Amino acid sequence: MAQLELQGLRRTYAGINAVDGVSLHLAAGSLVALLGPSGCGKSTTLRMIAGLEQPDAGRILVAGQDVTHLPPWSRRMGVVFQSYALFPHMTVEANVGFGLRMQGVGTSERLRRSRAALDLVGLSDHAGKKPRQLSGGQQQRVALARALAIEPTLLLLDEPLSALDAKLRDELRVEMRILQRRLGATAVFVTHDQAEALAMADQVAVMERGRIAQLGTPEDVFERPATAFVATFVGRSARLPGTAHGTTTRCGPGSHGSTLHTATPHHGPVTLFIRPHRIRLLAPGAPALDGFPNVLDGTIASIDYTGATVELVLDTPAGRVPIDLPADDPAWRTLTPGAPARAGWEPSHTMAFPA
Ligand code: ADP
Repeated sequence: MAQLELQGLRRTYAGINAVDGVSLHLAAGSLVALLGPSGCGKSTTLRMIAGLEQPDAGRILVAGQDVTHLPPWSRRMGVVFQSYALFPHMTVEANVGFGLRMQGVGTSERLRRSRAALDLVGLSDHAGKKPRQLSGGQQQRVALARALAIEPTLLLLDEPLSALDAKLRDELRVEMRILQRRLGATAVFVTHDQAEALAMADQVAVMERGRIAQLGTPEDVFERPATAFVATFVGRSARLPGTAHGTTTRCGPGSHGSTLHTATPHHGPVTLFIRPHRIRLLAPGAPALDGFPNVLDGTIASIDYTGATVELVLDTPAGRVPIDLPADDPAWRTLTPGAPARAGWEPSHTMAFPA
């Protein structure tokens, strides 16, 4: 049985469907990321699950029980928001025990569970401090401990890492994932950051205007996006407009155009998507390699060294083509902006969507 089931959830504000028929099943112990641009309905979905917002239609089931009309406190869900929402006048330990106090858990049991939760997030030594004596990352760990202390039926995480700086965000992301797996907690994680969603989630629900555009594993949504919206939102790509006739597509203007190949047939106006790590950098005028019949000639627009990879951009008559090379590939060292270059890739790595 699913630990969480959403059936046709809908929420309307002033005639606009903020959430427009969201359904999903979440197995016990797994983490789903709700991923999408600002305003697509992620937080409203999470708030309805938490009971902080009432749906206009649809049902929410937790372990088979209909909780749609239960008040938030009887759902026993642990919620972590972007802003830590800690009580400044209470100690860290009292903050962590707050939910337990609301549930009427006695003092000694409350202390035991608060300490155990603080131990889980590595903050046992800070129990007597006030939140302002802690760093942002530590405060977010306190918020997480508070959510875990109630032994929640579901862990609901609303952009919990967004207020932290990049390095801390990466560290806490790994810690949270290890902890969630270890505890076997079922979690819903809201984020607009595709890298965060891919790294954290068992399932990713990509949302577009109140609906789930695609629900799948991180690899599904990255490698096999269902729509152009998903392909654009999840990961970078070359995006080349063209006209398809079967497995060939003409891209670029007139005599400067190129014929590119796809593995499956398409017809009419399309946009071709190719991931930068699938594209090879070839010498200008180099013959097409076996298995790489798609080639585009252009000039190097930029060369960005990012550490592990080098991100090149090639300007071609068909459009801009980003190419990611491993930084230890010596090919990029001889390149300069403005130099001619050729890009090549396989038809099977060419995704096409109706334009
Ligand atoms: P996200 O979390 O994906 O950024 P939200 O769920 O916060 O999106 O919002 C979805 C849509 O609903 C947005 O258009 C937003 O402006 C609208 N909305 C959210 N909450 C309210 C509210 N309390 N009153 C009116 N409109 C709202």
